[in-house]
Amino acid sequence: MRLEQRVAVITGAGRGIGRAIAERYAREGARVAVADLDSATAEEAAAAIRDAGGEALALAMDVTDEQAVDAGVQRVVDTWGRLDIAFANAGIQHIESLDKLALENWRKVMSVHLDGAFLLTRAALRHMYAGQGGTLLYMGSVHSMEASPLKAPYVAAKHGLLGLCRAVAKEGAGHGVRSNIICPGFVRTPLVDKQIPEQARELGISEEEVIRNVMLKNTVDGEFTTVEDISELAVTLAAFPSAALTGQSVVVSHGWHMG
Ligand code: NAD
Repeated sequence: MRLEQRVAVITGAGRGIGRAIAERYAREGARVAVADLDSATAEEAAAAIRDAGGEALALAMDVTDEQAVDAGVQRVVDTWGRLDIAFANAGIQHIESLDKLALENWRKVMSVHLDGAFLLTRAALRHMYAGQGGTLLYMGSVHSMEASPLKAPYVAAKHGLLGLCRAVAKEGAGHGVRSNIICPGFVRTPLVDKQIPEQARELGISEEEVIRNVMLKNTVDGEFTTVEDISELAVTLAAFPSAALTGQSVVVSHGWHMG
């Protein structure tokens, strides 16, 4: 087990990629706080971890709510006495062309990704600086490196997370804090399943064509990345033993983006 004795908080962990990482962290021996806007799924994911013999806590948390994030992170520290890993994973997508995009929808996407990641970072650093340091992890995307049509706020927000990750690596180094960002290609989760028909409608093509000719077009093998792929990398980054690996973005995308 690679994460024994560690305490982790993961946002957006009620379902999808975040949930898979939470389950995997628990199997690696970590105590895991499952934070989500949807408290029912957070409870469900935490219960599943406990049923499998792990230790987990559910947190009802809107990552854009300053007080909820501070209180949630404080609860983790009150419960388990420390915080080693904070993973800003919560995210949303909005499919629309720029000329039609309402400011409200731009702000909503930016807020969940960037305000959410900032608030978790700040709350976590306050505890990590006072303790033995720790690791910040961010969920970027190939869209942290590349743009696609109809996803401007998401692309801008995911690029922004790269900057936050690097800033944390610089500021955190003197306090024993590392920071890295995972940049996945397309993974079949509810977030992606929702956008297949939306993109088909906007682009006037079939759903099959969206998958083959848009989402997986530039992969080396036409395959989706999986939650297991992401979880494997998330364990490696969290367990890495030194500050040699900090401020880095790691792309897992079946070769969609190389560089
Ligand atoms: P998902 O929609 O399946 O899960 C996202 C979770 O975040 C949900 O449980 C949702 O309730 C939660 N959430 C949304 N807004 C929140 C808020 N304000 N506060 C707290 N929780 C909130 O999505 P997913 O595919 O598992 O995506 C997880 C992360 O991975 C996101 O940051 C996403 O951008 C990123 N990502 C996904 C893919 C993909 O192909 N699925 C690819 C690259 C990056």
